[in-house]
Amino acid sequence: MEPQQLNVAMTGRLCNLDSAAILLRCDEILEAMYGNSHAAKTARTPGSKSIGDARRIIRRLGLDASCISRSAKGDLNLKASSAVSFSFFSNLVKHARKCCTPVDPRCSACPLVSFCSNGIRSCARRSTKPVAIDLCAGAGALSAGFRREGFQVALAVDKDKHAAQSFRVNNPGVPVLEADVRKIRPARILRLLGFERGQIAAVISGPPCQGFSAAGPRKPRAARNFLFRSIARIARGLNARLLIMENVTGLKRVNRVSFDDKIVAYFQKCGYVGEPIEVDASKYGVPQRRKRLIFICTQREYRTHHFRLRPSKLANKLTVAQALKGLPRPRAGHGKNGKQDPSRMLHNHRAMLHSAEVIQKIKRIKPGAGPISYRRLPLGLAGTLIAGHRAMPVQCQTRSDS
Ligand code: SF4
Repeated sequence: MEPQQLNVAMTGRLCNLDSAAILLRCDEILEAMYGNSHAAKTARTPGSKSIGDARRIIRRLGLDASCISRSAKGDLNLKASSAVSFSFFSNLVKHARKCCTPVDPRCSACPLVSFCSNGIRSCARRSTKPVAIDLCAGAGALSAGFRREGFQVALAVDKDKHAAQSFRVNNPGVPVLEADVRKIRPARILRLLGFERGQIAAVISGPPCQGFSAAGPRKPRAARNFLFRSIARIARGLNARLLIMENVTGLKRVNRVSFDDKIVAYFQKCGYVGEPIEVDASKYGVPQRRKRLIFICTQREYRTHHFRLRPSKLANKLTVAQALKGLPRPRAGHGKNGKQDPSRMLHNHRAMLHSAEVIQKIKRIKPGAGPISYRRLPLGLAGTLIAGHRAMPVQCQTRSDS
């Protein structure tokens, strides 16, 4: 077997991820951390220390390091069959010096931890904090909140590779499994983390809301509307004490079907009791009229009345105008990430390349007004945003913002 095939097969076995292009995925992660690879391409020829640094990570990831070698003159040799490009190699070296150091590597700050069996176990064991796992984790906001409140998030699961990629960058040190929660067995999670049943305190989750949202088709029978069953099944299998699930208020009525009752009943069947509470995100610093339902459930012997949402410290609600204040003014076609200075990179701050005529048309639209494809954000609180067809975000018209 070629070294590269071996690498992919080994990583696939270790992490059970989609094995295709795993190394390219690592490349993307490193690019997200250190900027684009153009700078790396102009770097000078690496010396033997750099080669040693890159090989160290490759080995720690459980891969075959023979694809990186030295020629007789001491120059870098990358095997033709390998997916390790020069820019990837340069990023590996930077990462090795910043994070994956020879002694005491900083696994808890490493975005590659998903691909590193040693890192997964060292991150899971190191902490004395209560442990949570995040299912349907998305870009990682729920995990970020739990980490801030003193939990150790030991694992995240999401089947969308872009969500997983964002999660890794937002939550370095938390391994992400790219998998469908319906197909995961609790035993696999415990084996991966090296935990016993009962050692994971909380299962947290924000399953997809499209099937419930006023902005979606609202088909009660859609398969993704029933992911709560898989989430509860995993919580029960892990013997987690706490089960927390977040979703939109629209699930209370989806074409005459009340999903909140179904969810509470199913959670009870799995041994978890609790009620959904409705939260207005604008009271917690989000410049949007955004209501959410949070199901806070515990095993029967515990009491949910211990849980209280901490009131916001903000005296007033944050407005759109305040939230966007200070951003540089985007010009038409300006702001592609690749052209920015990596040290000051501002992600996703881009403007479309409109014609002068369209720009004039947009200028005449008042905040909060306009046709569906060019509606401007209001200056106060925004409604729910729906991504438009390569256009500005469109605001949902519903009053419930579900
Ligand atoms: S998880 Fe730790 S050992 Fe693995 S690549 Fe990252 S820093 Fe290195």
